[in-house]
Amino acid sequence: MATSPAAKITKAKGPAATFWDRARQQFHATADLINLDESCREVLGNCRRVVQVSLPIKRDNGVIHTFTGFRAQHSNHRGPYKGGIRYHPDVTREEVMALSMLMTWKCAVVNVPFGGGKGGVICDPHNMSLGELERLTRRYAKELIPIIGPETDIPAPDVNTNAQVMAWIHDTYAMEVGRSALGVVTGKPVSLGGSPGREDATGRGCFYICLKALPLFKMKVAGSKLVVQGFGNVGYPMAKLWQEAGGKVLAVSSDKGGVYNSKGLDVEAAAAHYRQIGNLLAFKGGDQMTNAELLALKCDVLCPAALEGTITAENAGNVKARVIIEAANGPTTPEADLILEANGIFIIPDILANAGGVTVSYFEWVQGLTNFFWKRAEVYSKLQEIMVAAFDDVYDMGRKLKVPMRQGAVALAVSRVADAFKMRGLWP
Ligand code: NAD
Repeated sequence: MATSPAAKITKAKGPAATFWDRARQQFHATADLINLDESCREVLGNCRRVVQVSLPIKRDNGVIHTFTGFRAQHSNHRGPYKGGIRYHPDVTREEVMALSMLMTWKCAVVNVPFGGGKGGVICDPHNMSLGELERLTRRYAKELIPIIGPETDIPAPDVNTNAQVMAWIHDTYAMEVGRSALGVVTGKPVSLGGSPGREDATGRGCFYICLKALPLFKMKVAGSKLVVQGFGNVGYPMAKLWQEAGGKVLAVSSDKGGVYNSKGLDVEAAAAHYRQIGNLLAFKGGDQMTNAELLALKCDVLCPAALEGTITAENAGNVKARVIIEAANGPTTPEADLILEANGIFIIPDILANAGGVTVSYFEWVQGLTNFFWKRAEVYSKLQEIMVAAFDDVYDMGRKLKVPMRQGAVALAVSRVADAFKMRGLWP
């Protein structure tokens, strides 16, 4: 039998060249694990669509500068494409393709009816005025109108984009199509159809998973020690909920370094300091430490909630946590993963751990489509239900296949998407 292109990639040796190559390698390794048939490999191993757009914008000084933007749509077999838009100088076509594939898996893990998409614009928003950002966003939204919409592709905030950017996209879409359509984006301001509970959804989702997972190790949150790397949208709510539940938050950090207190930090005081100063330097409620020292602290749970690639082959051997909950996307490099696994550390992988964000985005989308808005408590209880069910499903899949949670999560996701593809069949 001839070797398919997919099988060739599976057998490729050495480190993958790009993020997209790595995402495909992970997919094909999973396909091997679950004996996925060739037709599913061929379809799910590729992005359905990648759009590149030129965005000429008048800068405040009157000069026209042309930016480049992308939107990748990996799979819509289970529902509309879903995924964030990032503004960053390092955005590439292959990066958004990889991220769109990972969104397909993340949505499938939590069983929300979305596929995967991701967008990005190559720009440095820190060197742009608000007016320039608005013009860039509106031009980008206009270029994407043929391929986005409440039933086709629903963007959301990602790195360097926020509720304001989503409001501009919503408005541009509404002006162009001639009607309001709250479902076109999620992560909107609450005053414009955003969902209560979206701001802390990702950290809260991590917390709900820990509530469920710790008893497997005869532990519980109350009395357990948590270390959090990164103290932003995700790290702060996780730390806050942990402390409210009677757990001890030993240390938190920002990019400038961390702060440690063996008796447990006062999370609210640290958050007030962080909000005011933008980092934790000179916070009086604990001792200063580097991020490297923080990762090496003895604790029950370590929560990397900063950027990708912070746990590496160089520092993984120092980690002394029993459990790692990956709040950030891709915080553990593949080499580090092997070291942590060999040291018996239980890793709750990113596509499960941080899926609380997309889950509440799904709730926001449903509320926008029905024009009926839920109370915060309802959002939280439905979020908990979904996160716990997803944890159980991933755990069971991992045990069934005798693989760690990371492979179990991807295997569960790929199986769900493959089932949808097989039921729909190939068109035409
Ligand atoms: P954020 O910008 O609000 O916070 C990031 C935090 O990490 C900041 O405190 C920053 O100072 C710190 N940080 C940056 N580099 C660091 C480093 N090298 N070492 C230690 N700390 C560092 O971002 P966020 O929205 O909290 O996102 C954090 C991670 O979670 C990202 O990987 C993001 O992709 C992922 N994520 C976020 C959401 C969400 O809803 N916000 C959803 C899913 C995944």
